[in-house]
Amino acid sequence: MIRQLLAEKYNKCTSFEDVRIKSDGRLKQLLKHVLTHSEFYKKHYAEQGITLKDSDHLKIEDLPFTTKDLLMKNFDEVSSDPLLNIRDIGRYVKNNNDYHLWYKNKYKIIKTSGCSGRYGVFIYDKQSWNILRAITINRASYVNVTPFKKNRLAVLVDTSGLHAGISLIGNVTKMFYDLLILNVHEPQKTIIDKLNSFQPDILSGYANSIYLCAHEQLDCRLHIQPIQVGCSGEPLTHEARDIIHKAFRVPPINMYGASESICMANSSRQCHNLHIAYDWNLIEVLDACEKKAQEEEIGNAVLTNLYNYSFPLIRYKMNDRMSMRLNSCPDCGSVFPVITKIEGRAEDLLKFIRRDGSEEYLFCSFMSLFNEPGIKSFRVIQKERNYLEIQLVLTDKNSADATVNKLDNDFKYLFSTKNLSRDVSYKFVFVDTISADTTTGKTTRIITFEKYQKQLSKNFVPQEVFESY
Ligand SMILES: [Zn+2]
Repeated sequence: MIRQLLAEKYNKCTSFEDVRIKSDGRLKQLLKHVLTHSEFYKKHYAEQGITLKDSDHLKIEDLPFTTKDLLMKNFDEVSSDPLLNIRDIGRYVKNNNDYHLWYKNKYKIIKTSGCSGRYGVFIYDKQSWNILRAITINRASYVNVTPFKKNRLAVLVDTSGLHAGISLIGNVTKMFYDLLILNVHEPQKTIIDKLNSFQPDILSGYANSIYLCAHEQLDCRLHIQPIQVGCSGEPLTHEARDIIHKAFRVPPINMYGASESICMANSSRQCHNLHIAYDWNLIEVLDACEKKAQEEEIGNAVLTNLYNYSFPLIRYKMNDRMSMRLNSCPDCGSVFPVITKIEGRAEDLLKFIRRDGSEEYLFCSFMSLFNEPGIKSFRVIQKERNYLEIQLVLTDKNSADATVNKLDNDFKYLFSTKNLSRDVSYKFVFVDTISADTTTGKTTRIITFEKYQKQLSKNFVPQEVFESY
């Protein structure tokens, strides 16, 4: 890890051209690897007439796309290691929630957080994990990392499973950090009490949870003086960024990542723009015809992860829409290209009010509860302040009872950890489909009480209900 950290630090890119040369070289190496070792990629590329002998001359746009569905369907053939088969990994994911563990002492397994609504598992070996950690520390942190003075790092994420955020942060080197891990599903008051007694140097977590902490600080219930604040996992709005800056007197570092590559881009202390770690993450933005979008034009994001050889993702269609500028940052001079706009994955917080008047929030990450093979799609509608209708599209109606029982237990547990059991109720409703928004093509997974009321006032016709529990 330390070797990787130093390699990253002393092998810095000096110009955008340098970034491009590094990413081109890494792409060629990766293509050679998959065309030699991955049965899936060999077949997938052979269908387009691409073989190993072409690997030196290929451009990224010559390659066919991959998707989460395609990779999950062909899981056993993506990697060259027979240890990575979907039967064993599926069992492992079902029975393990411990993000500290290495699968077979070799691999970090990440389960998708559920924001995209489809179940997925992504794999990192120790080498790719070290590169990822080095990118995160070198680019998304400005606090000096030294074993001589440990930093106090408080992290506010969903700790209930093998999610990207907690797996990466839960694995930080203890030599450099004293770590406090807080679960976003704990009651807000508990979180604030723990932060007050820990007094972190670095506060990091989901954008919405940091935003709530900023309000607590402005309302004088939280009293901390972090020298760095990091936001990830959820989009950081302008309003949230300003409030966080005002509350903690430091500009928050915004990080864009996903299970597929946990730190793809980050802002800095000097610049709000998300700078893409393009030498390790080749991001393309494509228009509706799947051709390269114009600069600043919003399109679909496609990722090639250049450091992950154990579960390679090449021209992988993400669930995000964004625009980018393929050159050095125009505002701060950073050599990396920037994401100029990003859409999608913006799910709102659900706000509840207890009978004693206190408020509580539920974070987007609870959507990971829907990561069950029996669930094809879902939507949560807050029809009353303290009442949720949970719509489900099931893959197999015969296993409906088992699926609903498991979800019911998970929701009961979730509300009890938030101290909301007495106040919040919910109902599961089976529907045939959950349609995407006709203008954005995105499926809204959470409809807050405020949005639901707006829809009602516009004579919104709710989805037909077929069967309910
Ligand atoms: Zn910049």
